[in-house]
Amino acid sequence: MASQHAESCQEVFALLSAYLDLELPPDACAEVEAHLADCAPCVEFAESLRKTVDLCRRYQPAELPGPLGQQARDNLLEAYQKMLAGRKTT
Ligand SMILES: [Zn+2]
Repeated sequence: MASQHAESCQEVFALLSAYLDLELPPDACAEVEAHLADCAPCVEFAESLRKTVDLCRRYQPAELPGPLGQQARDNLLEAYQKMLAGRKTT
């Protein structure tokens, strides 16, 4: 059950950046929100991701708003997986 949840966390992670870019279709958006309602680590992660995106936009007003770069996504995914791995440590 725990690993199943971790998998669903990773699916949610894949949706989160699109969600925060407001590019997510309403159906998927509701799915993400439903998961966030029941998953504290994902909420924390979404908050930090939201802040990151917000900061990026705030400090680059001349840039067109767009999806996160591949490197930013990789960094976030790595941080996310470390967080999940940390929670599973017994
Ligand atoms: Zn989760």
